[in-house]
Amino acid sequence: MNNVQERIEKHINTLSQFTATPGKGTTRLTYSKEDLQARNYIKEQMKACGLQVQEDGFGNIFGKLEGTLKDAPSVLIGSHFDSVPNGGAYDGPAGVVVALEVAHLFKENQLTPKYPLEVIALVEEEGTRYGGGLMGSRGMMGLLNEEDFKNLKDKDGIPTEEAMKQIGLNTTLPKQRDPKTIKAFLEMHIEQGPILEEKNIPIGVVEAIVGLTQLDITVSGQAGHAGTTPMDRRTDALVAAANIIGQLPQLAINEGAGTVITTGRLNVFPNGANVIPDKAVFTVDIRSGKEENVLNVVEKVRSLVMSYNKDGIGVTIEQPLYIEPKAMNQEIITLLKNTCDALEIPYCSINSGAGHDAMVFSDYTAAAMLFIPSKNGLSHCPEEWSDSAHIANTVNIFYEAAKKLTESNE
Ligand SMILES: [Zn+2]
Repeated sequence: MNNVQERIEKHINTLSQFTATPGKGTTRLTYSKEDLQARNYIKEQMKACGLQVQEDGFGNIFGKLEGTLKDAPSVLIGSHFDSVPNGGAYDGPAGVVVALEVAHLFKENQLTPKYPLEVIALVEEEGTRYGGGLMGSRGMMGLLNEEDFKNLKDKDGIPTEEAMKQIGLNTTLPKQRDPKTIKAFLEMHIEQGPILEEKNIPIGVVEAIVGLTQLDITVSGQAGHAGTTPMDRRTDALVAAANIIGQLPQLAINEGAGTVITTGRLNVFPNGANVIPDKAVFTVDIRSGKEENVLNVVEKVRSLVMSYNKDGIGVTIEQPLYIEPKAMNQEIITLLKNTCDALEIPYCSINSGAGHDAMVFSDYTAAAMLFIPSKNGLSHCPEEWSDSAHIANTVNIFYEAAKKLTESNE
């Protein structure tokens, strides 16, 4: 094991001890005692790398290596350091650790960049305490206004700023950050899925964070007695719904490009064992990396569903949720791939099926992400594990990329 890898393991192990559920995974809620412990460790490590440490009015942490250019925008590297309840040691912190180790390499090699380099550690990405998710990144980019932030309460009724004060955070610090002060954002995250491990490829270069839409479909028919209504006289809402649901996987497979489609909720009415169902309501969750694939599948689902609107069966379709896919920055993707080639590290393109802070930043700056394999594809559980050798790969890739990004004027 090399030096960088040893340091990575030390960071991950130390951070994993800051949990409210020892022996039962990482539970690190935003503005909790464990947040403060992790925060102090991260700030200490930032200072040891020669970075100037600052926090904002949300408690996001920034460690800055000044560049030679005056008032120039920074290259940001980082991730979040909160967790889900009984989560793992890698989702979030691994990305912060990578950023710290990139800064460590800058110090070790005595590099002074032209543009500043900033290590960032974000709060409340998971939304475990205050809901919604991506709070740290949305807040700093101005997508969460001060009033709405102040009104957020946790399940015990504790407002954000009160919780911040309990761990000694300064709520009067500036909250919003001008996008002009950011040149790029790089994030390393565990894949949280099985693809890289199955392909035995150590690096996934994220092309897009998938868009997602949800359709709510209601199928109605006619209730009747399960014993006395002949088969040819039935308008069974559940049979129609089941026929539709059974055809959905093939629509995703035909669309390809990593498109996935899921029915996760189905309610049957009146839900009696001896009553022909007169209503079935189900969800259709559609995700893909490209908007055209999402829209294509939505259209195909619509026409499939509408084709059942006959012979006494009625259907309605609602679309309560639509989030557009976020493409990562093509120039940085190319830079990362070229860097992998130069370092002889195998990689493949991949889409992210989950949301990440990079998705928020992608609207304001050039954002890019790398994934590393997750053991057995698991995350958000104590078994979550990734190889420190894979994490060390991303340190080297981001170090090379950050050297270029902090030098070039583009
Ligand atoms: Zn995460």
